[in-house]
Amino acid sequence: MLKWRDVIQFANHGNPTPDRRVEKTEAEWQTQLTAEQFRITRLKGTERAYSSQMCNLFEPGKYACICCGTPLFDSGEKYQSGTGWPSFTQPVQDNAVAYHKDGSYGMIRIETTCNTCDAHLGHVFQDGPAPSGLRYCINAIALKKVTSEIQKATFGGGCFWCTEAIFQELQGVLKVESGYSGGETESPTYRAVCSGQTGHAEVIEVTYDPALISYEDLIKIHLTTHDPTTLDRQGADRGSQYRSIILYRTEAEKTSAEKAIAEVQTLMDKRIVTEIKGLDVFYPAEAYHQDYYASNPNKSYCRAVIDPKLAKFRQQYMSKLKEQAP
Ligand SMILES: [Zn+2]
Repeated sequence: MLKWRDVIQFANHGNPTPDRRVEKTEAEWQTQLTAEQFRITRLKGTERAYSSQMCNLFEPGKYACICCGTPLFDSGEKYQSGTGWPSFTQPVQDNAVAYHKDGSYGMIRIETTCNTCDAHLGHVFQDGPAPSGLRYCINAIALKKVTSEIQKATFGGGCFWCTEAIFQELQGVLKVESGYSGGETESPTYRAVCSGQTGHAEVIEVTYDPALISYEDLIKIHLTTHDPTTLDRQGADRGSQYRSIILYRTEAEKTSAEKAIAEVQTLMDKRIVTEIKGLDVFYPAEAYHQDYYASNPNKSYCRAVIDPKLAKFRQQYMSKLKEQAP
């Protein structure tokens, strides 16, 4: 938890490195934002006190930067300060917000900005409630409420031992389960799926927080961490159970999946053959397949096939990994 001394430390000696950076020109921000959003966030303006309903909003969810969408505050840390501006005791992550000394209006105050895109947010004061004692006084117009309902996404890209190990390391991913889907046989076993007769593919079901990672990002990462151009095959694994597949739950997911494929296709020489299909049923695989890589790090398949894939993935998506990722 950040305290006043941390805030001063950041303002005096430099801010923590953000997970990612978003940089745009003034003109680009002007096109994207309304005049008032631009004035507050890019020109360090201040909205009129009590000008937003957001002060009285306490429903669960996150508040993201209006400019770049990075989650900044959680409603759990929001409180009624009576100042007329939305007030929080803590940012969602220590490196979400940046701090700067502000000597305007003949006072020394600490200005807060979005650490990802430098949007002006407001100021932080040391008269907040315990335990942090901080009051982040933020312009409502610099924030947007993100209702973050936990979602599930299902896709396959060959052996689920590999895909599961990869997706478990991503920020915003809460759970990954290995299983079977896309075929006809009810409640199939691993043996039956391996025979290639069930129509099912080895897939993973990813439970994620869309405030932290989008469906489209998940699909793009999926497409770039297996080979989506080989039909019914992934490396040495051959058979329709190893096919590249995306199983969508909604039309919006289908559209996102098609968009992600079109984008990733521009990076590939060969045609992407990933099947896009509506999800019917996801059958969780047998218990010994769950967390396979974590439970069997020294098995030869893990060393020979999963280790190099994971190493490549970690390098490619460093900024999207969980902080505690190995
Ligand atoms: Zn931002």
